[in-house]
Amino acid sequence: MTVSGSGAKEAAGSALVAGSGWEYAPAPESREIVSIASEYGLFVDGRFGPASKGRTFATINPATEEPLAKVAMAGPADVDRAVAAARRAFDQVWGSMPGAERAKYLYRIARILQERSREFAVLESIDNGKPIKETRDVDIPLAAAHFFYYAGWADKLGYAGFGPNPQPLGVAGQVIPWNFPLLMAAWKLAPALAAGNTCVLKPAETTPLSALLLAEVCQQAELPPGVVNVLTGAGDTGAALVAHPGISKVAFTGSTEVGIAIAQAMAGTGKKLTLELGGKAANVVFDDAPIEQAIEGIVNGIFFNQGHVCCAGSRLLVQESVADHVVDRLKQRLTTLRLGDPLDKNTDIGAINSRPQLDKITELSAAGEAEGAQRWSPPCELPGKGFWFAPTVFTGVSQSHRIAREEIFGPVLSVLTFRTPEEAVTKANNTPYGLSAGVWTEKGSRILWMAQKMRGGGGGANTYNRLDPASRFGGYRESGFGRGGGRHGLGAYLDV
Ligand code: NAP
Ligand code: MG
Repeated sequence: MTVSGSGAKEAAGSALVAGSGWEYAPAPESREIVSIASEYGLFVDGRFGPASKGRTFATINPATEEPLAKVAMAGPADVDRAVAAARRAFDQVWGSMPGAERAKYLYRIARILQERSREFAVLESIDNGKPIKETRDVDIPLAAAHFFYYAGWADKLGYAGFGPNPQPLGVAGQVIPWNFPLLMAAWKLAPALAAGNTCVLKPAETTPLSALLLAEVCQQAELPPGVVNVLTGAGDTGAALVAHPGISKVAFTGSTEVGIAIAQAMAGTGKKLTLELGGKAANVVFDDAPIEQAIEGIVNGIFFNQGHVCCAGSRLLVQESVADHVVDRLKQRLTTLRLGDPLDKNTDIGAINSRPQLDKITELSAAGEAEGAQRWSPPCELPGKGFWFAPTVFTGVSQSHRIAREEIFGPVLSVLTFRTPEEAVTKANNTPYGLSAGVWTEKGSRILWMAQKMRGGGGGANTYNRLDPASRFGGYRESGFGRGGGRHGLGAYLDV
């Protein structure tokens, strides 16, 4: 318990606010279900083995800075090996396997993920720093749901609207970030495999462990060797993978900066590319919105996963007539958030994933203050070790402030106000990004009007951060191009 009771009561006035006056007993999830090896190899051609040059790197627990394991660092020779294995598997087994057969493997992986869900949830929480209640209730079930969903498509590709007999592309090179490590792996692998491609996946340097456990699940499911290969490493490994001539398709999720470099490197190669990049989404609250519901949506929009969410509602646009009330209620609500041990089942806000990410959040928040916005955080004691950042709200933000323009990718909300729906749209669209948006209003017609006018790949009406394997996801402008999820996600892996 690190949110102090007295401050919470003060902000809450006379209202009874859950959590404000009560100490919760610690409720840590046991680590025993997970056995973390001291060293991990690369997963190539169905087997684990060291990197060809024997290089390794460490992954740590960001909540404690405790080193967890040494992990193999893949170099160009390993990329060659993995791509060759994936090509062989594509040519000899997977590419020509009937869809109904491929589906069996995907269903198996989905079921094993469910069976081993607690193990995955604990491991993901330890390696990433996110709260166990999120890995347990979101990351892992949603990863399994992606395998279930795309398993269902594998034998129905001819009915997906891409022609009677759509063909896979070949070997997919997939590079993913650290914010939803297992979910991103599932998001990339499941549609690619369902469509008949084989994969070489590069997880993020700070969160390799759940992808390696997923590789073990592939073995357990008796997936033919080479169909899925996992190359751990750093940015150089990712760069070598996407530039490899044996790759037919690149799927990247990460920063806009790296996305641009990949697009440049691939220009003229004729390979298919999808880029899921950053965002600076507006969460727009009108004066007729159900305010208490909106408060929950605002909190979920920016404080879920410590704000390490590309579609986070990091800009709150609130109608001026209700702005003071909304901000007051939001502050009361934030005093009840519990920051601390990610493995504690009561924890709402876990650790920031890495020191560099913490530095970036700290620097941008300092810029917010320097540019004149008002900074507020609930009374909040941060643990002495590890990487932590208190939930933070900036009011008095103007559109030119860096905290209104740049992606912070942390638990920091910038509040702006508007008077008319037109002004809300103009401000919402005043960003180089275009990934997602939220609207809170009682009027259905206004929701539809806003949805037509706001530039973003997706969004929520009177809800936020709802992710489902059946719904498409992707961006415009600096948020990237191509769509994942749903039927669209299949199209990205078919020769259409
Ligand atoms: P990042 O630095 O772009 O890293 C993403 C992945 O790319 C990591 O695996 C990284 O390896 C690798 N990488 C780094 N440099 C590379 C290069 N030159 N060529 C190929 N691969 C390279 O992004 P991040 O900081 O990890 O993730 C945060 C960003 O991702 C945010 O901007 C966020 O908005 C975005 N994101 C977008 C979505 C979406 O669906 N639109 C989802 C999640 C995150 P290392 O880990 O070793 O650096
Ligand atoms: Mg780690």
